[in-house]
Amino acid sequence: MAIKSIPTEFEYLSWPEVKKLAKKKRSTIIWPFGAVEQHGPHLPLATDSIFVDEIICEVLKLIPSDIPIKKLPTQYIGFSPEHKGFDGTITLSSNLINLIIKEVGVQLAEMGFKRLILINAHGGQISLLNTASRELRSIAPNLSIFPCFLWSGVEGLSETLTSNEIKHGLHASLAETSLMMALKPELVGEERPCEGMGLKIPSGWSLEGSAPNAWLTSDLSKSGVIGDSRGSSKKIGNKLKRLLIDHWYKLIINLMNSDWPN
Ligand SMILES: [Zn+2]
Repeated sequence: MAIKSIPTEFEYLSWPEVKKLAKKKRSTIIWPFGAVEQHGPHLPLATDSIFVDEIICEVLKLIPSDIPIKKLPTQYIGFSPEHKGFDGTITLSSNLINLIIKEVGVQLAEMGFKRLILINAHGGQISLLNTASRELRSIAPNLSIFPCFLWSGVEGLSETLTSNEIKHGLHASLAETSLMMALKPELVGEERPCEGMGLKIPSGWSLEGSAPNAWLTSDLSKSGVIGDSRGSSKKIGNKLKRLLIDHWYKLIINLMNSDWPN
């Protein structure tokens, strides 16, 4: 008879195991969010979902099994109306995603879980997850919620990527192409588009950042890429993979060793 291993996946537990886990001090669920949306002619639709799923699985492998954190199944389909018109993009409405987060969150809180980390890899749904988290907190006040973006706050990105990518690389360009080459090279096609650069943006305004614009991909690109994917490499991808794993490992361990925020 095989001896049962301790899974990092919530859905591989039995109900008595969940009951015991939820009661533990600092019991935490991490729920990855991605998207099924066009990522240019060379990357798969699930690029964001694959990134967050792979990185969080690697991080959880490094965390000692007695630390009470488990991963919910990655939410593959997200909120991607900006990519409408490119075949393969499937978006849920913002209302539906808001509802999914609240319905699942309330049930986790009822089981007794203390924290929920929403770790998201799709830039187009950052504000949506922030809003849903705030609403969930108000109906489940005992659940601490952390809506995080996979690429935010990661040290070393500016040394690993070109300044061109930092400035213009919004979608399916150097960083994402390189990371996919490191994680699932068999899913990366040959094309390396460069689009959406050299826009005539008035001083102080931008696509993203402090004075942003609610852009649609079709405003900026025919291929679906926004930025320059030329120069992508597995070497850059491996560095990004390391930086992301190290960053999220550190953050999650720091949180699990702390009573923050209550
Ligand atoms: Zn992406």
